Amino acid sequence: MEPALSWRDEALGRLVAESFDLLVIGGGIVGAGVAARATELGLAVALVDRADFASATSSASSKLIHGGLRYLRMGDFRLVHEALSEGQALLETVAPHLVLRLPFVLPVYDDGPYGKTAIRSALWLYRALAGQRVGGSIITPSEAAALVPSLQLDGMKTAGLYVDAQTNDARLCLANVRAAVDRGAVVLNYAEVVSIDAGGAEVADRVGDSVVAVRARAIVNATGPWVDHVRRLEDPSAGTSVTLSKGAHLVLDRPAGWEAAVTISIDKARVSFAIPWEGMLLLGTTDEPFDAAPETLAVTDADERQILDEAARGLVDDALRPEAVRARFAGLRVLPAARRGTAKARRETTITVGPRGVVTVAGGKLTTYRRIARNVLDVLRPQLGLQRLDSGLTPLPGAADPESVAVLLCRDRPELDPVVASSLAHTYGSLAADVLGADPDPFVAQVRYALDQEWALTADDVLRRRTTLALRGLATPEVRAQVDELMRS
Ligand SMILES: Cc1cc2nc3c(=O)[nH]c(=O)nc-3n(C[C@H](O)[C@H](O)[C@H](O)COP(=O)(O)OP(=O)(O)OC[C@H]3O[C@@H](n4cnc5c(N)ncnc54)[C@H](O)[C@@H]3O)c2cc1C
Repeated sequence: MEPALSWRDEALGRLVAESFDLLVIGGGIVGAGVAARATELGLAVALVDRADFASATSSASSKLIHGGLRYLRMGDFRLVHEALSEGQALLETVAPHLVLRLPFVLPVYDDGPYGKTAIRSALWLYRALAGQRVGGSIITPSEAAALVPSLQLDGMKTAGLYVDAQTNDARLCLANVRAAVDRGAVVLNYAEVVSIDAGGAEVADRVGDSVVAVRARAIVNATGPWVDHVRRLEDPSAGTSVTLSKGAHLVLDRPAGWEAAVTISIDKARVSFAIPWEGMLLLGTTDEPFDAAPETLAVTDADERQILDEAARGLVDDALRPEAVRARFAGLRVLPAARRGTAKARRETTITVGPRGVVTVAGGKLTTYRRIARNVLDVLRPQLGLQRLDSGLTPLPGAADPESVAVLLCRDRPELDPVVASSLAHTYGSLAADVLGADPDPFVAQVRYALDQEWALTADDVLRRRTTLALRGLATPEVRAQVDELMRS
C-alpha cells in the first residue's frame, strides 16, 4: 500500500497539477481574507506564504478591532465609519468567538494634547459614526481608576470612556485560511513566490527545496511589507510605492483589577495603548520609519524603553517594571509612499494593477480586511468574469458564542478547568470540542491539532500563532521540548 501523503506533499502536488483562477501571494490577513472570499465566489484558489501564515504584520498588530478614534482628528470619517461597521460584523456574525468588546479609558491630563471639550466631541462623533445611541462618555478620575487601578491620577483632569473590541490577530488570519481550505483552496506556507510570468508564478518550497510552476488566471500580491519586492518580480522597473513604519509592542504581566484598556495620548498625532489581552498587558506601539529589509525587523532595547516611558504618561511605575516584560514583538505598517511623517500618513489601502495584470494590495487595517478583500476582488471582476459582489456576511469556521461553547465544554468534560474551557472557546469557537478530541491533556491536544489541521511546521508556529504561549512568557525550554517531541512523533 502507498504511504499516505502528508498535507504538504498533497498541497504541492495540487499546486503543480491544477490550474487556478486565482493565486494569492501572502498569507497575512489580507491574502487569507482574499482567498476566503474568492472561494466563496466559487473560484479555484491557491494561497502561498514565504513563511508561516500570519507570521509578519498580521500577528504583530495591537490586536484591536476598532474604528480608530485618533483618525477622527485626521478627518478620516469614512475610514472610521467603515472600520466601525466592519468591527460590528466581525463581533456579531463573522467571528464572535475571536472578537471581544473592550472598554477604553482615555485619561485627559493638565499637560496633555487634548482638553475635555475636544474629547467629549470626539467621543460623540465616534459613537455617531458607529450608529450607537449610547457608548462614549466623560467620567471622573476616580471612576477611571475603578476600571484601571494602575492609572496615573497625578494631573488627570477627567477621562473619556468608550467601547471598541479586540481580537487574536493570528487566529483571525488562520480562520480565514481554514475557510478557504474548507471551500477547496490549496494553501501552502513556507512557499515563496520567486518569479511571475504571463501564466502564473514559480513557487519555491522552503521546506523541500523544490521550485514548482503554478498556473493561474489572476494573481494577487498581498505581501504587506514585501509588496514592492513582489511587484518587481512582475516588472523589474517598478519603483517604490510604499514606505514602512515600525511598530513595536511589549507583553507584560498584568496587575490585578484591570477591566478596561487605556488610550494614552502622546501628542496630537500619536497614541499609545495599554490593553488587557489574554491575561497579560499589551503595551505599544512605536511609529518609526523603517528602511531595511522587512525580514530583519527586530525589537530593540531602545524600543522597549520608549514603550515603557510612553506608557508611564498614563500608568503608575509599578505596572511598568522592566522585569514584568514577558515578550516583545514588532510589525511594519505599510503606508503609501509620501513625504509626510509616518505617524500622520493615512492608513488607507491602495490597490494597483501591474503591466501583466498582477493586482497589488497594500496598507489598511486588520479590522477592515473583509472590505479590502472585497475591493481587491472587485478590481478582478472583469478578468475573472465575476458578478457584482455583495458585502458577504459568512461566519468563519468555529464562529459561535464563546460563553455557550465554554459551558458545553465543561458539561461534556467535567474535569476541564473552566479557565481553560473559556480560553479554548475563545480560540477555536465551536471547533473546540474537535480540537480536544479524546486527548486528556488540552495542551497536547492543541499542539496535535496545530500540526495535523493548522499547517504548523515549527515550534514557533505552534507557540506564537496557533497558541499565544510564547507571547505570555510560557514557552519555557520544557514546553518547547514537549512541542518538539510531539512534532517528531
Ligand atoms: C504595529 C502595528 C499595529 C497595528 N495594529 C492594528 C490594530 O490594532 N488593528 C487593526 O485593525 N490593524 C492594525 N494594524 C494593521 C494590520 O496589522 C495590518 O494592516 C495587517 O496585518 C496587514 O496584513 P497583510 O496581510 O497586508 O500583511 P502581512 O501580515 O505582513 O502579510 C504579508 C505576508 O506576505 C508574505 N510574503 C512576502 N513575500 C512573499 C513571497 N514572495 N511569496 C509568498 N509570500 C510572501 C509574508 O511572509 C507575510 O506573511 C497594525 C499594524 C502595525 C504594524
